[in-house]
Amino acid sequence: MNVTVSSTAICMALAGNPNAGKTTLFNLLTGARQHVGNYPGITVERKEGFLTFKKQQISIVDLPGTYSLTAYSSEELVARDFLVNERPQVVINIVDASNLERNLYLTAQFLELGAPLVIALNMVDVAESRGITIKAEKLSEFLGVPVIPIVARSGKGTEALLEAALTVATREREWEPISISYGDDLNSAILELVAEIESQNFLINTYPARFTAIKYLENDEQILARGRDESPDIAEKLEQDVEKVSKHFQKTFNVYPEAIVADHRYGYLKSVLRGGIITHAFDIDRLYTSDRIDKIVTNRLLGPVIMLGVLFGLYQVTFSWSEIPVSWLEAFFGWLGVTVDSIIPDGPLKSLIISGVIDGVGGVFGFVPLIMFMFLGISILEDSGYLARVAYMMDRIFRIFGLHGSSVMPFIVSGGIAGGCAVPGVMATRTLRSPKERLATLLTVPFMNCGAKVPVLALLIGAFFAENKAILMFAFTMLAWIVALFAAKFLRLTFLRGESTPFVMELPPYRLPTLRGLLIHTWERTWQYIKKAGTVILGISVLLWALMTYPGLSDHQLDGFTKQRETLSLVYPAEIVAEAISGEEIFSAGAEEYVQKLAVIDRAESEQALRSSFAGKIGRGLESVSQFAGFDWRTNIALVGGVAAKEVIVSTLGTAYSMGEVDVEESDSLGKRLQRSENWNRVVAVAVLVFIMFYAPCFVTVVCIAKESSWGWAAFSMAFNTIFAFLMAVIIYQVGMLLNLG
Ligand code: GDP
Ligand code: MG
Repeated sequence: MNVTVSSTAICMALAGNPNAGKTTLFNLLTGARQHVGNYPGITVERKEGFLTFKKQQISIVDLPGTYSLTAYSSEELVARDFLVNERPQVVINIVDASNLERNLYLTAQFLELGAPLVIALNMVDVAESRGITIKAEKLSEFLGVPVIPIVARSGKGTEALLEAALTVATREREWEPISISYGDDLNSAILELVAEIESQNFLINTYPARFTAIKYLENDEQILARGRDESPDIAEKLEQDVEKVSKHFQKTFNVYPEAIVADHRYGYLKSVLRGGIITHAFDIDRLYTSDRIDKIVTNRLLGPVIMLGVLFGLYQVTFSWSEIPVSWLEAFFGWLGVTVDSIIPDGPLKSLIISGVIDGVGGVFGFVPLIMFMFLGISILEDSGYLARVAYMMDRIFRIFGLHGSSVMPFIVSGGIAGGCAVPGVMATRTLRSPKERLATLLTVPFMNCGAKVPVLALLIGAFFAENKAILMFAFTMLAWIVALFAAKFLRLTFLRGESTPFVMELPPYRLPTLRGLLIHTWERTWQYIKKAGTVILGISVLLWALMTYPGLSDHQLDGFTKQRETLSLVYPAEIVAEAISGEEIFSAGAEEYVQKLAVIDRAESEQALRSSFAGKIGRGLESVSQFAGFDWRTNIALVGGVAAKEVIVSTLGTAYSMGEVDVEESDSLGKRLQRSENWNRVVAVAVLVFIMFYAPCFVTVVCIAKESSWGWAAFSMAFNTIFAFLMAVIIYQVGMLLNLG
């Protein structure tokens, strides 16, 4: 049954610029019948949905949003490869009627490819409200493909759209590429290339000859590579021809052929649109509401102030609103831990389930509300069009460091104002189109001071620099930015060398986001996080638990602690001991004292266990190296644990530093204990802080980096950051001690 359905199903591809309304239309048409996966080998999402229309089974693939079909980004590659390899029966090209000329740039390339096309002229409601009317029939006549006006948001016109798409899809015809004129010089060059391509049947099964010729002129790397694979000789010949043309153009016009191609494509569209297709109801002077808003919002002086305000607001809302659901989740996992504690008998299994599994999974889920709110905020900024303005304003500064305007959001999200999280930050790098700029951003966002590092900052600054708390917190935030930006610059000059991508200057018009769109965008991203982080982190969490638990104390050592407890219980009268261990409220001072002393023994036991665990051995083993930065073995354990999650640092330091001090008072804070320790002073504190700020990202982040790029880059990130952080710490410690600042 299924087989017959899928074999007769018609495949439609949904393509268009980002924000043209693809997802809205896709969701409207397919409802819940969707399947989301990835294209093989890359992180670009592949969404497929199903519907039945007039008894016909239809599968719709939502292609990634692109402005062009040249291989500048993985999205563009995916869209193009899908079309030429899978040959959908019809391509529904969704265009934004309120921004027609720009949107049709992509359409022109579909026409050049010859794909069977139907144009969904979307957002006619927005266009109308701006007084723009578009004569769909006339446009259809000029382009030679059906043009159906729709409002994806309300579903208006989608029936007619499906009908038209079905007609095109069931019409058995070859692909029919059109020829756009690229001016005398290029036209003749193209003709020569086409002659060569056709005579050799070069790539002819995949692309029309003229399309290949134009892509050669546009210097499209993927097609160049394919060409070399198919036939090195012909490829070389073509490349030489193109080289000649390119030299000629540079000499005569001082431009590359790519630029001429783009100019003429726009020229072609202008000539199409000039034929009375677009009419404005009133003279708008190009001052749409958007432009008027932009006068203020991207103003040189006001713009940055407004931006800071908006970002700060986003931040506040995210981190304060998510606090409540986060605390619910914490309470839930706490309750789960207690419940399991009471059900399973003491032993390694219990410890594994509570400290390994529940804490690990809880750690991942603890982030979920935060990520949801963060992505909700970003979706609002993105769907409304404001994010493009932020990128536009920041582009100049970021460009200096080899980044892109769109890098700003990941940095902010990761803790650019202190207290974010690198996990959504890493995921927010998806808005970057250039792979190298994206990697440079991805690798440097973990330098920001995320919410888990803030408690460590607070602890050490509070203990060693109590007088200058606020200033130092601010200084460390600035330091994070400076280091991140310079590290990005370094990467862009070394491992990630390459041109920066031009910033698309045209800003999309502002638009009121819909609740439905926001919820879908938010959920999609959150779900991806859960899927990605959830699977791997469990294993790692169990591994770390094992490192900190095994091999455990020897029987002899355990006996020692048992004896200590017994001795203690003999010192106190029996009724006091009974009161203390009854589990009920304690009234007498004696019982209180007894409980405290017991706690001291418990702590000493767990410290001893930690010390003799694998993690403890690692910590002590590392001392021979870490001494150059002033870290002792206890700090090392905390730092090793911090690789799992930076939250662990403070608690592990707490365990490691209560050791041996049998007479510590309950009120004696970790800060005080560190102050008293001979291994710590101000210089050590700064060295440790700087190390914690910049060393390997936590595991959830590393997993996300791996999923967004590759495990190779994830490993690079851990090694690069740790080495860099350690060098910084060594310099600080050595110079600081030399100058006697401790
Ligand atoms: P995509 O990037 O192409 O997937 O675009 P989306 O489907 O996410 O749409 C971008 C924004 O445009 C969302 O806020 C939609 O609600 C909005 N939108 C989509 N179609 C229409 C429409 O026909 N009219 C109006 N007014 N807004 C629309
Ligand atoms: Mg979308």
